[in-house]
Amino acid sequence: MRIVVLAGGIGGARFLRGLKQAAPDADITVIGNTGDDIHLFGLKICPDLDTVMYTLGGGINEEQGWGRTDETFAVKSELAEYGVGPEWFGLGDRDFATHIVRTQMLGAGYPLSAVTEALCARWQPGVRLLPMSDDRVETHVAVDVDGERKAVHFQEYWVRMRASVEARAVVPVGAEQAKPAPGVLEAIGSADIVLFPPSNPVVSIGTILAVPGIREAIADAGVPVVGLSPIVGDAPVRGMADKVLAAIGVEATATAVAQHYGSGLLDGWLVDTVDAAAVPDIESAGIRARAVPLMMTDLDASAAMAREALTLAGEVRA
Ligand code: GDP
Ligand code: CA
Repeated sequence: MRIVVLAGGIGGARFLRGLKQAAPDADITVIGNTGDDIHLFGLKICPDLDTVMYTLGGGINEEQGWGRTDETFAVKSELAEYGVGPEWFGLGDRDFATHIVRTQMLGAGYPLSAVTEALCARWQPGVRLLPMSDDRVETHVAVDVDGERKAVHFQEYWVRMRASVEARAVVPVGAEQAKPAPGVLEAIGSADIVLFPPSNPVVSIGTILAVPGIREAIADAGVPVVGLSPIVGDAPVRGMADKVLAAIGVEATATAVAQHYGSGLLDGWLVDTVDAAAVPDIESAGIRARAVPLMMTDLDASAAMAREALTLAGEVRA
């Protein structure tokens, strides 16, 4: 079975760990969001690709959900002694090594997809991890500060501002000109199932779908497309997805997110049991829905979610 998964960071990575347990023999291709990528300290940082790689490769800081385990921060504090920031972006010493290798390879002319493959040779994530594009895409968020509108990088909005001001717009800068990375459209075209994990619908999955050709390839693949809601009980399970949903005019409910993807893209949608009452509404929008536990409290819970997604995919195919 060939499964394609569009993934952001933590939500995508934890789901993928469950999927690997639920379907150990499946051939899994992950299309990762690169809209969160940022250049800091002269280095190219790909937070979502790294979260997937570290999580599946056993190097993740489990409590935090991102960054390396057993991390130290000597480089960052030495940089701070020079007055070099930003201090709000947590980069540990072990993590720095990844970004140095990546930046060095990009500088030597390798595309991001080749660099990601090289990094994964160490981590052996057990999936094929592809960036959505080799082209630079950067999500920016429009905010009003002191009565003036300005655009900030998504990381600045999310990490430094902690999404504390309203997002007026979310723009994946460069997406329109970006091409899917080598292998992306081929993987979708030969997939048996496409899954949307409970990743952020706007700045993770939405950004991937904004790369011309990807949405169309999924809609035209003629295979079941099943998603899992990141919104449980009308709030994101983790993080501030409601802020970026509001920016695109979508309510923070499992139903609204399903309708936002739409029946043209989505065949099946899993909501949490607390949102069971939403099932009829989602089904009347032409999307097969089920209510099952959707909290990734541990690996077994994530695996159970993955099994439910595969079961629903089997039903919508019929
Ligand atoms: P990010 O790039 O690190 O923000 O990660 P993703 O975009 O992949 O996933 C973020 C989304 O995952 C958030 O909107 C959360 O609501 C959702 N999420 C995190 N943990 C869980 C969970 O246990 N269950 C569900 N249903 N969603 C979750
Ligand atoms: Ca992310």
